[in-house]
This record gives sequence, structure tokens and C-alpha cells, in this order.
Amino acid sequence: MKLASRVNQVKPSLTLIIDSKAKAMKAEGIDVCSFSAGEPDFDTPIHIKEAAKKALDEGKTRYGPAAGEPKLRAAIANKLKKDNGLEYKPENVIVTNGGKHSLYNLIMALIEAGDEVIIPSPYWLSYPEMVTLAGGKSVIVPTTIDNGYKITPEQLKGAITERTKLFVLNSPSNPTGMVYTADEIEILARIVVENDILVVSDEIYEKILYDGVQHRTIGSFGPEIFARTIISNGFAKSYSMTGWRVGYAAGPEELIKAMIKIQGHSTSNVCTFAQYGAIAALESSQECIEIMLSAFTERRKYILERVRAIPGLNCPTPDGAFYVFINIEEIGLKSIDFCEKLLLAQKVAAIPGIAFGADECIRLSYATGLETIEKGLERLEKFVASL
Ligand code: GLU
Repeated sequence: MKLASRVNQVKPSLTLIIDSKAKAMKAEGIDVCSFSAGEPDFDTPIHIKEAAKKALDEGKTRYGPAAGEPKLRAAIANKLKKDNGLEYKPENVIVTNGGKHSLYNLIMALIEAGDEVIIPSPYWLSYPEMVTLAGGKSVIVPTTIDNGYKITPEQLKGAITERTKLFVLNSPSNPTGMVYTADEIEILARIVVENDILVVSDEIYEKILYDGVQHRTIGSFGPEIFARTIISNGFAKSYSMTGWRVGYAAGPEELIKAMIKIQGHSTSNVCTFAQYGAIAALESSQECIEIMLSAFTERRKYILERVRAIPGLNCPTPDGAFYVFINIEEIGLKSIDFCEKLLLAQKVAAIPGIAFGADECIRLSYATGLETIEKGLERLEKFVASL
């Protein structure tokens, strides 16, 4: 069969492949410690499940508008105003099949052959692949551990050409966990405005912050940057709703309309009753986030202590998200090699940094129970000692 050439131009999602592999091994009875996908191990909070069940019982099982249920679009606009200080109307919002799909719709609506998209590395692995699928060009800007894995103003300026259309900003970051300060974001915002490009702010981890670190959204630094910003977010990480597939984007109405048009010919609306769960997530108490966050905080402390005690592994302190991005350079193995051997020898699943554009690192997600973390870290220690 001759498949479309775009298929061969992209790589499969390694986070999803390794996660499925670890889950399949578990199902076979193998005692795997999985640190692979960033998937909170908590059940979806009960009030959210109840709201979806009620919607199901009330017959909310029909097609809805491709853009999303009006009540959810309004609740999202309200959230963006309340939490982020952004003045969006419901018409500025599209509900998508997860945060990932909001980015996909955006790239499809915006990027074509000849367009450049600036992506700081390490990056979440699907950004460049989406750009490739749209026929665009990713301009990867490497950041380093020394500058906290943050793109500098000079780097951003230097990467912009007359073909640049979009800059991808992800804070808190997957995979590094770093969070830009308000001052740093303001400077990046100024560069975006001066060069009249667009910025997509992937804020899926905005609620997962530690040690009093604050999240500030780039669109909140005045009308000029607001007009050039697209927010991507979702319910998966904050409310432990990974399998529900509900995310959203917000931005200029013309662009959101274009994304709705694309969605109308691809997935149509997000599962109708799932959207009612999402409404409950936004409109009910946010205590469930606090509960998960206190567990993540404890796990983060533990995992950092254990990893740092292993000779040859180096790990910066992540300010947000639920990943540790460990430098394995001293070990002398490539990241795929390291992760394959680790899985084979010790039944520990981790994601090779090459997937995120950093072959000298591996990523561990600590969105998993403390028991697994303890056992997994013991195994990691044994593995490194055996090399
Ligand atoms: N975003 C999560 C991760 O990086 C889930 C898997 C994926 O969609 O890539 O692990």
C-alpha cells in the first residue's frame, strides 16, 4: 500500500508507545514500575463523574455544536477571566478532544508550507510532528540546564525570520518542569509583539506548581500581546481526566472560527456528556486540585532526593508539572539505550529524552503512587550501579 508521504515524515508518539507497553506488561502480570506517560494516578473526582452520569441519564447523548457545548464555552471563558485575567467571550473558545487536539487544530488552521514555528527544546514531543504534518518547518531552539531550560530573549529574537508565524511557549514545561517568571514572560511578549508573530501558550500544567511559584499567562501583558496569543489547555492533568479527552483553545475569533471549521470536518463535537463533567470541574470546588497537588509535592521531594543520591544522575529542581528530567550524560549511554536496558533489566519504564530533543536525558513522571516510586527508584539505583 502506498501511504501518504506525510506518514513517514513523522515519528510515532513515544510517550504513548512506552505507556501502552508498560500497561500491557502489567496486564500480563509483570511487575512493572511505570514512570512513562504523564497521567495522574488519581481517579477523576466524584462530583465530575456524577455530573457526566447525570448528563448521560438526561439524554445528553446527541451531536452538539462542533465548537463545544455553549455552557462549557462560557465556563471556560469565565475561568480564563477569573484565573488568568484574560477577557475572552465564549466565541473565542473551542472545546477540543484533549489539549493535544487543540494544538493540532491550531497548527492545521495556521501553518502551511513555508511557515516556520519556533519551538524551544526540550519540547513536548508532539509539537514538531504536528508542524510537519501541516507541511511547516519547526525551528528548534536548544535551551540548556544552565539557563534553566528557558529560551532567552536573544535566542527568540535570533530565531525569528520573515517566515516565522508562531512561537510555542510551554510553562510549566513538559518535560523539564521549569516555569518562566512573570518578568521573563513579559520580555518574550514584547518580542512577539515587536515582530508581529503569534504565540501559543500551552498551559496544561498551570495548576501544578510547587514552592509558591506562580504561573503568569503571556496574553495578560496588554492588548497587543493578547491579540497575538492562543491559549491551549485541558482537563486531563488538573482534574485527572486523561481518558475523557476534553481540552480547549482560546484566542482571536477569526482563528477559533477556522479551528471550528476544521473540527467540523474531522471529529465534530467532543463527547457531549463528557463536556458536562468538564463544566462541573470548572464550576465546583477546586479542592480536588489541592489534594492531588499535595500528593505530587510529597512525591517530588522523595524522587528528587533519591535520584540525586544516585551517582552519575543529575537532576534540576522542577518548579511545576510532574516530571523529573534527569541528565544521564555521565553514564555514557544514549537515552533510548538507557531506557530499553532499564525496562529489560529492572522492569522500570521511563521516556528517553531524545523524544523531547534531549538525548542526554531521560524523563520520569511522578504522577504515580509513592509505592511505585519507591520500588522504581530502588530498581533504578540497582540498574545504574550495574552499568
Ligand atoms: N502529555 C503526556 C506525556 O507527555 C501524555 C502522553 C502524550 O500525550 O504525549 O506523557
